[in-house]
Amino acid sequence: MNMNSVLRVFKSKRYSSPALRQFSMSSTRYDNHSCKFLVIGGGTAGCAISSKISNSYGSDGVIVLEPNNLHYYQPLFTLIGAGIKKLDSSHKEMKSVLPKKAKWIKDSVAVFEPEANKVTSNEGHTINYEYMIISTGLQLNFNAIPGLEEALNDDDSKVCSIYSPKYVTKTWTSMKDLNGGNLIFTYPNSPVKCPGAPQKIMYLAEDYFRNVSNRNDVNITYNSSLGVIFGVKKYADALWKIVKKRDINVNLRRNLIEVKPDTSEAVFQNLDNLDEKFTVKYDLLHVTPPMGPSKALLNAKSVTNASGFVEVNKSTMQHVKFPNIFALGDCTDSPNSKTAAAAAAQSCVVEKNLKSLLNKKSLDAVYDGYASCPLVTSRNRCVLAEFDYSLNPMETFPFNQAKERLSMYIMKKDAMPLLYWNVMTKGYWNGPEIMRKIFNPFKFN
Ligand SMILES: Cc1cc2nc3c(=O)[nH]c(=O)nc-3n(C[C@H](O)[C@H](O)[C@H](O)COP(=O)(O)OP(=O)(O)OC[C@H]3O[C@@H](n4cnc5c(N)ncnc54)[C@H](O)[C@@H]3O)c2cc1C
Repeated sequence: MNMNSVLRVFKSKRYSSPALRQFSMSSTRYDNHSCKFLVIGGGTAGCAISSKISNSYGSDGVIVLEPNNLHYYQPLFTLIGAGIKKLDSSHKEMKSVLPKKAKWIKDSVAVFEPEANKVTSNEGHTINYEYMIISTGLQLNFNAIPGLEEALNDDDSKVCSIYSPKYVTKTWTSMKDLNGGNLIFTYPNSPVKCPGAPQKIMYLAEDYFRNVSNRNDVNITYNSSLGVIFGVKKYADALWKIVKKRDINVNLRRNLIEVKPDTSEAVFQNLDNLDEKFTVKYDLLHVTPPMGPSKALLNAKSVTNASGFVEVNKSTMQHVKFPNIFALGDCTDSPNSKTAAAAAAQSCVVEKNLKSLLNKKSLDAVYDGYASCPLVTSRNRCVLAEFDYSLNPMETFPFNQAKERLSMYIMKKDAMPLLYWNVMTKGYWNGPEIMRKIFNPFKFN
């Protein structure tokens, strides 16, 4: 056996050697890897679940397949877009966030072969697994709207988006450099991560013009593809009062279909009458882009539904066809609101059900659709929406959370980032269920 063959054998066995099972970054092309648990995606959901699994089964081998060097806490983007936080505070090196006991392969999945318990990465690695957890999030499809990318990439255009780290700081510079005119905020005709964020940035902009600049010089409009301002009636009622009080125009069922940066015009379509189009002049256009599953999932017909979302049992988060596959976070077809809060609650359910599966027990842990959305309405107020699959409020605190509160704003701005980096990414956060039970002993127990 020559040295290369020895190295190949060594590499192919390395996952099973406890002494070598530690955090590492692979840059070698065309390796074959095997592991007990493969986690696809090292974002919010992938990091939480890989940490949980590593905490429990570290010695059995966890591989995380994730292409990015930086891990973002995306909920901060809303505050960065309003100049309240800095972009630097929203990210850390991926290697410092992923669990130390897991092995990180810095690459993306290209092909899923669930029948063979195998995936192939873009760079040609093959990874065999016993159990796979998919958490590839949502892809931002800026290019689905003609003219949008060109406008976003033009520094002078006043077209911005808090949805990408690439354009989030432009949101703040566009806002503070504006002398007045039409501010338009959009919500696309697609699934969206944090469905509250497209209007949170609008409230923060309105607050900025009201308190710092000149509110009378700007018209503010929210054009949403949805038929409601928010999915949960209790919070929608509160938000309608806020937009009315603050003189914000809301148009529902209006979808952005084109941006014309040369003339500073945006074209919208009436989703109830597709022939009806509106061309509007903007002085600042904040775009929430259409979103969808990652390319690899769009090509993985056996694990996804027709739209490319991973098909799971919405209670257990187990795949409907392949029992050794689970999914969580924004990439699943479970009909919850796509938020980090939902991913936290799902990570607890996946961990427990994976354990039951390994012990040949029934999968009893149930995800109830819990999601939360801290609807920041100004630089010192927030409505904390929390709800389940049925869009019933599931409030943690023993007060009416539909009311705008300073305490909820401080929680969103200061407490949640700490919780995220120190507890959730380390695999110790399961959502606020315990707090809810303590605060509301007779309501949810
Ligand atoms: C502006 C904004 C505000 C938000 N505000 C809130 C909030 O206030 N509260 C809240 O709870 N949530 C909020 N969210 C939503 C929250 O950030 C997401 O729901 C959460 O990050 C979802 O986690 P995820 O792991 O599914 O996806 P992500 O965190 O996006 O991670 C997906 C990961 O998969 C990787 N990946 C993609 N394709 C592949 C592939 N082919 N192979 C391998 N890896 C791949 C990506 O690189 C990425 O790291 C907000 C999001 C945004 C953008």
